[in-house]
Amino acid sequence: EREEARLNERTGGSGETYSRAQQVLTGGVASSYQARDPWPIYLERGAGPKVWDVDGNEMLDFHNGFGSMVQGHAHPAIGRAISERYAQGTHFAAPTEDAIIVGAELARRWGLPKWRYTNSGSEATMDAIRIARAHTGRDDVLKIFGSYHGHHDTVMVSIGVAYDAIGDRDHLQSLPYGGGIPQSTVDHVHAVHFNDAEAMERKIVALDRDGRKPACVIMEAAMMNLGVVLPQDGYLDEVREITRRHGVVLIFDEVKTGLCIAAGGATERFGVTPDLVTLAKALGGGLPTGAIGGSDEVMQCVEDGTVYQVGTYNGNPLGMAAARANLLEVMTPEAYDHLAMLNDRILAGCRSVIEEFALPGYAVGIGSKGCVTFSPVPVVDYETFKANQDAELCDLAWLFNMNRGIFMTPGREEEWTLSVTHQADHVDRYVEVFREMASDLTR
Ligand code: PLP
Repeated sequence: EREEARLNERTGGSGETYSRAQQVLTGGVASSYQARDPWPIYLERGAGPKVWDVDGNEMLDFHNGFGSMVQGHAHPAIGRAISERYAQGTHFAAPTEDAIIVGAELARRWGLPKWRYTNSGSEATMDAIRIARAHTGRDDVLKIFGSYHGHHDTVMVSIGVAYDAIGDRDHLQSLPYGGGIPQSTVDHVHAVHFNDAEAMERKIVALDRDGRKPACVIMEAAMMNLGVVLPQDGYLDEVREITRRHGVVLIFDEVKTGLCIAAGGATERFGVTPDLVTLAKALGGGLPTGAIGGSDEVMQCVEDGTVYQVGTYNGNPLGMAAARANLLEVMTPEAYDHLAMLNDRILAGCRSVIEEFALPGYAVGIGSKGCVTFSPVPVVDYETFKANQDAELCDLAWLFNMNRGIFMTPGREEEWTLSVTHQADHVDRYVEVFREMASDLTR
């Protein structure tokens, strides 16, 4: 309560903005994920690793637009690319040279030959699932329980978050996340827990027996919407082998991991190549840009016109120019080395605080992403997350950070994203605030 009152005091301007915003924006925000009680924090600007809210509070950004800003705010190279493109026209609904350059770089990084663009992660996963359905001639989809893949109907199922898993491990009931999702869509979506390849195979076999073999498995190779949950040794190899053996298209949703955890995302990092990969967030250097990459075989249905993968703004020149500069000038091998150094440092710092104060939690991360998971046991899937996460501690950590100039992702399922503009003293500040909270808690 003390921290809550303190934040309200510091963000009075956001409170006033909220009153005005409510007159025209539903819930006072542009997206339901931006909502917060008693009001959202309205931001004004960002530069490098910092952001400022409407009250003028300067904060170190560890949220980074849900990981979209791994290159830092207002990066000069991306600014240059956007300005040059702006001067030459921003939209034609016709392909430009940059679309080819970006595609070639993505093909090199992901080892997948064929690419298309979208404007968001949701569009990328929506189109990828359609491609998988067309390629296989099947309707059903298998996902990981608790995983978020965007806001279109098919993937707004079995997300978890709002409810407990229902049913035993082999019979998890599919539930829609919120209203407006047809039951007929929900009926086509099935879920298994992460890090359990045997359950995945049992599910595929059972569905096949019912005449509804799934078109695809859509999953994150490392879960980024339950904090950070890493794949156990061998899990992804088994998933690859099982999906290949059963003729099920494997989609790695790299909207969060792609560009953030390695140059070639989770695909490179874990050495397992899916049939389709989806990218967005960090790809566009802060502009709304997504992509789908695939094998020649799976993308054939788009190539031959069986599947319409379309969108007025797909491959928008402004987004493509930003993505080109981002890929070729900003997210270089040196940038990934820098991010790894910083993440090692922040993780080590958090681990030493956890040990010193015997906190019920652990620090976990990969690439530019990480978090402190307030659970006494390792979280390996949604079930262990739901059963063990100390939600109160998680909420307190957010307030504690915000009051001390650390802008962090809201919600209990998120993680930090470091940017290439962060330096050692920035991550040390994060650890210092964490230490202060631990010391307060144990006093
Ligand atoms: N996939 C994953 C793994 C995500 O985390 C998200 C967004 O958080 C999406 C897809 C959807 O992306 P967007 O919000 O750009 O539609």
